[in-house]
Amino acid sequence: CYGLLALCRAGFEKEVASELDRFAGRLGMNGFVRAREGQAFVVFESVEPLLWSDLAPHCDWFSLVFARQLVPWFARVDDLPERDRATPLVEAARAAGHRFSDALLETPDTDDAKQQSGFCRRFTPHLREALTRAGLFRPKSKTLPELHVLFPDAKTAWLGATIPGHAAPWPMGIPRLRMPREAASRSTLKLAEAIFGMLTEEERSVHMRAGLRAVDLGAAPGGWTWQLAHRGLHVTAIDNGPMAEPVMATGMVEHLRADGFTWRPQRAVDWLVCDMVEQPSRIASLMAEWVATGRCRRAIFNLKLPMKRRFDALEQCRSLIHKRVVQAGPYDLRIKHLYHDREEVTAYLTLKR
Ligand code: SAM
Repeated sequence: CYGLLALCRAGFEKEVASELDRFAGRLGMNGFVRAREGQAFVVFESVEPLLWSDLAPHCDWFSLVFARQLVPWFARVDDLPERDRATPLVEAARAAGHRFSDALLETPDTDDAKQQSGFCRRFTPHLREALTRAGLFRPKSKTLPELHVLFPDAKTAWLGATIPGHAAPWPMGIPRLRMPREAASRSTLKLAEAIFGMLTEEERSVHMRAGLRAVDLGAAPGGWTWQLAHRGLHVTAIDNGPMAEPVMATGMVEHLRADGFTWRPQRAVDWLVCDMVEQPSRIASLMAEWVATGRCRRAIFNLKLPMKRRFDALEQCRSLIHKRVVQAGPYDLRIKHLYHDREEVTAYLTLKR
């Protein structure tokens, strides 16, 4: 195994490079990062060989904020022939020394690289067949690693493997979510992605269920509110702007024209969500205060990051949240740059009970 491969939104390579560097350092890896602006993926290359079994258990796509996918890689194949790409890929896969339960073909999310996506779809069954013939494919296994093959262009492939459940829950870290017609705004997909990608199945079924109460700060026109109302939660929507009619028509929403920074509920709620466009440090402090004082049990919120100092701004938010919430007890803070996020990240915060 020779390092780590991370996919991201084009333009966020610097942030991923900083995170990968730090992550690799924590794992005691000695090497360097290769990142090219606009390439939508970043590679950490180790200077000494590594054991996949040592590295893979630590590689969860959740470990890095700005990576949509995180894969320990073990081979790069250059000069792939136009015909029969399967043979060199199977040979490279064999060198990994284990069998695979799946084979996922991915491309970086750039216009150029996405030209490979039609090829990836067509080629997937062929590669699986070729791996089967080579005795390397056991699709029924729940424990064998999953093979990832990344095609940045038609001639190059990076091969890596993840432990089942450690990679992003959707190929390339890109969820295909349907835009619900009644949902008022496309930002509804951000909250949908956060609910599916950042909460476990158990957390969703236990904590995101009908009958619970939520507050949405900066709710208009109501895309996030709709996600909650649609799941049967009662939502207090705080915004001076108007809410869309279909969202109010769910009958689950009370709209209050108030300031999201000063308004407080009379009794504690299960959820706080917040998509106000404001300085990230102000939002982070507000969220930390709600969670630490028990006004809400759980919060999902967006932090809008400035173009230039995204990484530092995020570190500052983390530290603000830590200082406030740790006084109330141990806590869980998850932060991801989701597919539907642009110049922002999405966070989930709760006290551990
Ligand atoms: N999440 C919403 C959706 O899915 O439809 C979109 C929210 S939009 C990005 C931000 C909203 O925050 C705006 O409607 C704005 O009026 C509201 N907002 C900004 N500052 C606010 C404040 N101090 N109090 C309440 N709402 C605020």
